[in-house]
Amino acid sequence: MDFGLTDEQQAIRDEVQRFAENEIKPVASEYDEAEKFPHEVMDKAADAGLLGPSIPLEYGGAGYSPVETAIIVEELFAADPGIGLCVSSAGFGAEAIMAFGTEDQKERFLEPITTGDAIMGSAISEPDTGSDVSSVSATAEKDGDEWVINGNKMWITNGSVGDFFVVLCKTDPDASGRYNGFSQIVVESDRDGFQADKITGKLGIRASDTAELILDDVRVPEENLIGTPGGGFLQLMQFFDETRTMVAAQGVGIARGAKERALDYALEREQFGRPISEFQAIEHKLAEMETKTEAARTLTLKSAWSVENRDEQLTALASMAKEFASRVAVEVADEAVQIHGGAGYVNDFDVERFYRDAKITQIYEGTTEIQKNIIAREMKD
Ligand SMILES: Cc1cc2nc3c(=O)[nH]c(=O)nc-3n(C[C@H](O)[C@H](O)[C@H](O)COP(=O)(O)OP(=O)(O)OC[C@H]3O[C@@H](n4cnc5c(N)ncnc54)[C@H](O)[C@@H]3O)c2cc1C
Repeated sequence: MDFGLTDEQQAIRDEVQRFAENEIKPVASEYDEAEKFPHEVMDKAADAGLLGPSIPLEYGGAGYSPVETAIIVEELFAADPGIGLCVSSAGFGAEAIMAFGTEDQKERFLEPITTGDAIMGSAISEPDTGSDVSSVSATAEKDGDEWVINGNKMWITNGSVGDFFVVLCKTDPDASGRYNGFSQIVVESDRDGFQADKITGKLGIRASDTAELILDDVRVPEENLIGTPGGGFLQLMQFFDETRTMVAAQGVGIARGAKERALDYALEREQFGRPISEFQAIEHKLAEMETKTEAARTLTLKSAWSVENRDEQLTALASMAKEFASRVAVEVADEAVQIHGGAGYVNDFDVERFYRDAKITQIYEGTTEIQKNIIAREMKD
């Protein structure tokens, strides 16, 4: 057993940390306040090779493993969760293309992500379909050599800035069994009938773009279907182990970022003639923040290792890591605001933003309640 990072993993961490320090931190509050997508930072992230980090080398990516990708995600989110999400989700949905896509799909869709020429998204949720993915109602009907897609997709990350989306649709309404008859189809945003309405007023991760997609008789060529027709639901479920592990890494990054800022403030701020860091009540808060963050990181990296090695515990570990690290993110960000006192309640300090940003990790990619359902189910299996 070896808990240390390899030299290469440490080098990746250092490089991303440098990028985040120079290119993300200084502009984070500006993009949050304006609810603006950070195109300028994305261009720099493309130059730094940070877009679609797990995309294989032959399609322009760095081919990073789940453990390496988790390290990158933690660093980005420790700098700023909003911009961190923009950078780390530029290739959201690419997992399906990497695993089940044809050579043609890989060439068309993967490379432009890594160069920064395209942004993608994964469109599963609908206005009436969230936790229960099997009730997706968007349809794709075959007409000649095209799919005709109809339906609304809700809360889609990169929705109004994305160039294409992997859309989960019902392709065989007569299929028997709850999980059959769905397919994943790539839909380009410049197709007729595609509309994206940006959602504003989010509590946190406000630099990240979120939109509702309205698909009205959108026609795409039949070769845009990924993998086996009707097998889309089961294909999708395979990626949740990896994508949930990455949300856990987001939680670790948020907790670490909040904790570091709280420590800095506690060392500086004086009350009763001494730094507040000398009060045992504050020391204990910091100690708990440190311990929880470390525990969340260990569980997250074990989950990433498990994805990498197709370990039999991987589904349970991904849900445990996501549930635990997202809870730690919320709790640590809360304590970071508390340590700042009144100063933590306004946007002069980053912890106000981290407090708002943390909550999303308990909601997207399956809520906390759904993760607990999965853990309990895996225990009984
Ligand atoms: C900012 C943001 C970005 C997002 N990005 C994307 C994206 O890129 N692509 C995408 O497809 N989706 C995305 N989502 C959607 C997200 O995945 C869903 O919001 C989430 O899965 C929950 O679904 P819901 O909102 O419909 O809540 P519901 O499913 O309606 O749940 C409401 C409440 O009921 C609880 N609940 C539901 N079922 C159960 C159950 N069986 N047992 C116990 N409790 C239950 C839930 O835990 C929750 O507390 C995003 C959401 C947000 C807010």
